[in-house]
Amino acid sequence: MNPSPPELHLRYPELAATLPHLPLGRRPTPLTRLAVPGRGNRLWCKDDSGFGDGGWGGNKVRKLEWILPDVTARGARRILTVGALGTNWGLATTRYARTLGVDTELALVDQPMDEHVRAQLARIHAAGATVHRTRTKARTIAAAPWLFARHPMSYYLPAGGSTPLGTVGYVEAALELAAQVRRREMPEPAAVVTAVGSGGTAAGLVLGMRLAGMRTRVVAVVVNDTLPLAARNLLGLARRTERLLRDRGARLGPVDLAPGSLLVTRRWLGPGYGHRTAEADAAIGIAAAAGLTLDPVYTAKAFAAALALDRHPMFGDAPIVFVDTHGPRAG
Ligand SMILES: *Cc1c(COP(=O)(O)O)cnc(C)c1O
Repeated sequence: MNPSPPELHLRYPELAATLPHLPLGRRPTPLTRLAVPGRGNRLWCKDDSGFGDGGWGGNKVRKLEWILPDVTARGARRILTVGALGTNWGLATTRYARTLGVDTELALVDQPMDEHVRAQLARIHAAGATVHRTRTKARTIAAAPWLFARHPMSYYLPAGGSTPLGTVGYVEAALELAAQVRRREMPEPAAVVTAVGSGGTAAGLVLGMRLAGMRTRVVAVVVNDTLPLAARNLLGLARRTERLLRDRGARLGPVDLAPGSLLVTRRWLGPGYGHRTAEADAAIGIAAAAGLTLDPVYTAKAFAAALALDRHPMFGDAPIVFVDTHGPRAG
């Protein structure tokens, strides 16, 4: 499917043997200019919504490309992970792990119920996940020993797959964007804007931009109020990911993860995870006119932030890249 190796292996050939990659989608993902009414027609989209050939796409599939080889290398036959009822992470994990003969067990906490969540939960069941509705975080933690006792050989993954290995997926995405800039598909962007649910996407982008020698800043739009997602948490995850790459033998040179490389905002969160906001609803309409289909939980809030940044003078006239992380596929 992908005859070409990932950018990470091209840049650091020493990782090819020590950090295995399982190609699950078509690279590079498209980079397109968005026609939205704005300041200078300077919003672009890095479209990861089409990433993943196994029936569900988006940002979680990029993480699984680096996580699943570790699951199989350890001989695990079952993944145990957590999320909310509409979890894109749980669905992507169930679908892609299954192709390797690995089962997925999900402990799910409640989130505001609507059509979007109901449809997602139906997909999760149809994909063959074993679902435990633990309802709250406290009950999930209380149930953990029992869940592990049932299947002691399970491979545990935190919400959103935001381990250092999962975060490598967005280091790769940033290197991919840098290669697109080198090929002059677009000028170097001032910022990339992403939704933040568990942090791996934003942390990986920050580290990847630094490794690629880009000055592009990451604007992290927090949409989840149930996890610690301040700048220090995200930069901490970026540093743990840097350490993973060094431990696997990558000759990285100095990496400057200065706080200025990352802007974290909670301005678009609204009342909390999965709660709709008027700005996000308006963003869905504006995006639809530009041919983009957004989801209400993540990408609508991030796109609302991108629209506001486009109106704001802080980045001058330089381009801004919105990362479309949501990936419903047919079937
Ligand atoms: C999980 C998710 C995100 C957030 O990514 P994290 O790496 O968990 O911060 C953004 N958009 C969508 C559609 C997601 O499912």
